[in-house]
Amino acid sequence: MRERRLIFEKSRKGRTAVEPPHVDVPEVDPEELIPENLLRDDLEGFPELSELDVVRHYTELSTLNFGVDTGFYPLGSCTMKYNPRIDEDVAALEGFCMLHPYQPEEHCQGSLRLMHELSGYLCEIGGMDALTLQPSAGAQGELCGLLVLSAYFKDRGERRDKIIIPDTAHGTNPASSALAGFDVVDVTSSKKGIIEPEDVERLMDERTAGIMLTNPNTLGLFEENIKEIARIVHAKGGFVYCDGANLNALMGIARLGDMGVDLVQFNLHKTFATPHGGGGPGSGPLGVKKVLAPYLPVPWVEKTEDGYRLVTDAPKSIGRCRAFYGNFLVMVKAYAYIRRMGRAGLKEASRMAILNANYIKERLKDTYHLPHPQTCMHECVFSDRYLQQHGVTTMDVAKRLIDYGFHPPTVYFPLVVKGAIMIEPTETESPETLDEFIEAMKSIAREAKETPELLKNAPHTAPVKRVDEVRASRMPVVRWKPVSEGDG
Ligand SMILES: *Cc1c(COP(=O)(O)O)cnc(C)c1O
Repeated sequence: MRERRLIFEKSRKGRTAVEPPHVDVPEVDPEELIPENLLRDDLEGFPELSELDVVRHYTELSTLNFGVDTGFYPLGSCTMKYNPRIDEDVAALEGFCMLHPYQPEEHCQGSLRLMHELSGYLCEIGGMDALTLQPSAGAQGELCGLLVLSAYFKDRGERRDKIIIPDTAHGTNPASSALAGFDVVDVTSSKKGIIEPEDVERLMDERTAGIMLTNPNTLGLFEENIKEIARIVHAKGGFVYCDGANLNALMGIARLGDMGVDLVQFNLHKTFATPHGGGGPGSGPLGVKKVLAPYLPVPWVEKTEDGYRLVTDAPKSIGRCRAFYGNFLVMVKAYAYIRRMGRAGLKEASRMAILNANYIKERLKDTYHLPHPQTCMHECVFSDRYLQQHGVTTMDVAKRLIDYGFHPPTVYFPLVVKGAIMIEPTETESPETLDEFIEAMKSIAREAKETPELLKNAPHTAPVKRVDEVRASRMPVVRWKPVSEGDG
């Protein structure tokens, strides 16, 4: 690979990409033709390049990206599935993407209808009665759900300031709970990797708002006791919140609402096929059972005899959780996805996601330690236990996978598995891709035994080699500066 040079290093004094036309007015200095505010003087050694070099520079940068469109991306819990192009086409229709949020309702009946119907589909998929499309991400859906619970109890004059959260929870769950003013009570999962009803029974009381769990949980396992757990929580006046980010395992097969779940957020950007990662855009609609509906954020869309309208006059509502109506174009993509897949298609997608995860689990379980051997749902979790004797860790495996052309899986999560390697293949990968990945993982395990140094220094082919994780997080350098000016 040719050494990549910074754009500053490619610069040559006086070289330019733009040739301004010859000025035939003798008194005018061409320099003065450019307004002052367009001239930059804040960057020492501003790069000077030809047009071709500029084109090559940006084209080269674009090849450094890794995405679902360039390769297998088995990032556990993130559902990095293929995003059908038709969804993008639909979201790019002028009638959707050129709408102004202040446009009067009568001008955007089609979009309001889409929001109303999408809410209905999501309620049907999750077994919920009412839904808000506002939250911009899964975590914001969680926060919104907890604020709804808070408002409900306040309305009834009940003081409940605790919430039970399993040790397998995604980090956003305790964070959202703390933001909403709840104290987190930990419940430990059993050896089987799931929550036992007795443990919930012991912790659930009249000061506890309920339980917040993920099903399937972050070990990729189905919480088999969910109905019994819901019964216990309900008996003490609490609610069951399900983090619905793992819905890719359940769509069309089972409904959380039928298992006793009262609130669930959907991650449209995971399960319902919107490209994500790198910060957005996302959408985390929150569905609730009827008794919680009056507390949902405004506005929501209502169907009337004359069409669709936005409801803002809801006295019990927690108010807005973001500006306007949510990430509308992500909703359009989810709507297009659901309509195109249909009921049978969604079910098939979940079944294939589960099959793919189990295929990887079965084919790698002799090579990598598998802490929970039972049938998994849409993801499986290994650990680095077998590699420890060679001084190789999960991080080394993840970095080495980059050399094989794969995005690393989620690592060191969930926290209940030491050195976790969490693999979520999704339904959109072919058996050939899964086999290539499996072979790469086996080959890495062989290298761990024979040439551990190769793993310790990986990746070898990536533009950025092994970074110091702590410094990269504590002292991120995200902009190039001349050495003299920076800290070296
Ligand atoms: C991704 C994820 C979240 C958070 O969703 P964001 O959209 O990233 O805020 C919460 N819980 C689980 C289990 C997840 O996988």
